[in-house]
Amino acid sequence: MIRITCFLCRTPPRLYWLTDMIRLVGDREVDSMRQRLKCAKCGKRDYIEVEGVSLQASEKQGAVVRHLLRIETRHRPA
Ligand SMILES: [Zn+2]
Repeated sequence: MIRITCFLCRTPPRLYWLTDMIRLVGDREVDSMRQRLKCAKCGKRDYIEVEGVSLQASEKQGAVVRHLLRIETRHRPA
């Protein structure tokens, strides 16, 4: 799983299934993944920490796992 933390907002880490992340950003290294993500709360990407984690069953119980429902593609103005 992939854990995403924003050190600016200090929100609880969000967890994503790795397979979802691969769908979202492609099969990349975690570091390059980080550059494509931004915080859902503050919108900044400078404080995002992305880690590949494997959670124990006990940790999963308290964790919020976001399931990817759809992928939004945003086009930047040229
Ligand atoms: Zn944030």
